[in-house]
Amino acid sequence: MIAPRIDSRQAKLAGRAAEQIVADVIELGWPVGQVLGSEAELLERYGVSRAVLREAVRLVEHQRVARMRRGTGGGLVIDEPDIDAVIGPAIIYLLRVDATLDQIFDTRILLEELAAELASQRAGESDLALLRRTLEREAAGEVPDYRLLHSHVAALTANPVLELFVETFARVSNFYFADRAALPESVVRDVCRAHDAIAKAILTNNPGLARERMRRHLGAEADFIRAQPDTVQRLDPAVALAGSLGDKRGEALARQLFTEIISSGAAPGNFVGSETALMDKHQASRAVVREAIRILEYHQIALTRRGPGGGLFVAEPDSTALAEIIAIYLRRRGVKLRHISDLRTGLELAVTERAAEQLRAAPAAELEAMAADLTQALRAESELGFALAFSRGEDFHSVLGGLTGNPALQLLHRVTMRLGWQFFSQLATANPRVNAISEPAAIEPAHRDITEALRAGDAELAVMRMRAHMNATASPPT
Ligand SMILES: [Zn+2]
Ligand SMILES: [Zn+2]
Repeated sequence: MIAPRIDSRQAKLAGRAAEQIVADVIELGWPVGQVLGSEAELLERYGVSRAVLREAVRLVEHQRVARMRRGTGGGLVIDEPDIDAVIGPAIIYLLRVDATLDQIFDTRILLEELAAELASQRAGESDLALLRRTLEREAAGEVPDYRLLHSHVAALTANPVLELFVETFARVSNFYFADRAALPESVVRDVCRAHDAIAKAILTNNPGLARERMRRHLGAEADFIRAQPDTVQRLDPAVALAGSLGDKRGEALARQLFTEIISSGAAPGNFVGSETALMDKHQASRAVVREAIRILEYHQIALTRRGPGGGLFVAEPDSTALAEIIAIYLRRRGVKLRHISDLRTGLELAVTERAAEQLRAAPAAELEAMAADLTQALRAESELGFALAFSRGEDFHSVLGGLTGNPALQLLHRVTMRLGWQFFSQLATANPRVNAISEPAAIEPAHRDITEALRAGDAELAVMRMRAHMNATASPPT
């Protein structure tokens, strides 16, 4: 799954070798700083050519799993994947699907509502002191970052998936507006008051109230940010690809090409240029152009077609590389299936609710088309099976995600499902009882009933049926 969708044998081999490296690092217990092996040893161990190994190393460097250290005592050194490895690809994907600030905020509110709910169910005595201390320091003006309380709340969920997503969407939304270090005093007071109220609801274990207060607080924050003169609804492509690995000129050219692709509104399949044409146009060496192309391919922005009429083409936006980086980051943090289930249910309910809103607001012809998409998904699942339908994005849940009209939410939903699938298949091989809950006989009627409720415009019934469906499938027997 790591391999970018490039039609080349070398890229596929490199993707497989990179997966093997990740597996070996996990197997070793992820000892950061330890040398996995010298280049010669790795060539021997993975049985690949030097070119393939170098490509694989670039992949694991991108994922911050390991990095190559030159010189004596050098080799592939095990690294610590951090959130920056996730933010970069997330920004690129959101740019490609043209996500707006409003859509980012909608997604963020949903995540933090869920975090507040789970935190209030899990907060214990030991958490009192930390939250109280943070609130005191905020009131005294000692907290430089008003995200701190939100990070604490996410940490209280003890759910690494939710923590990662809360942080990612908070950081991504910062790219839409200029630094707001100088908040007016009245706003600061409102923030402190809201944080106080949220903390109180969490510490008194009141999930409904915690959710409600978090939603209101972030809604007010969104309104405030939208009203600032420097705020934009759409990201500037120039923020993307900073800090990609490798040659700086290659990276600069990649960023320039990416900006051109985004600002020209080029569609998937559009021609970007041949290697020689790009060298001419950008006054760059072949090495620099190749480096830029590699970066664009890795991020699934563009891909190369060989042969006559070949060259670089705009690729379909694809979240596979991003999902893989997230999976690696979370495995490092000991993610379990129950963490994914926590989030999955909340997300499916939100997706159902938003899809229902879209269906209700749609004119008759559009409504028919949307309902037809869902019916087609049911057919795809029965004809292809769930796994294949999912991998093509044609399954019921993925299609439902597409009907929300929010590409940021859709991304989150898809990535969470992909994580779920990875765990599920591991569990299912170990425990046949797990497979029983994913049998078509159990799932098809549920999908059909939800579709029916959506088609009838009954959002409440659709959400209720989705909840029952999630309860029946989200946590397999152990
Ligand atoms: Zn806040
Ligand atoms: Zn389902």
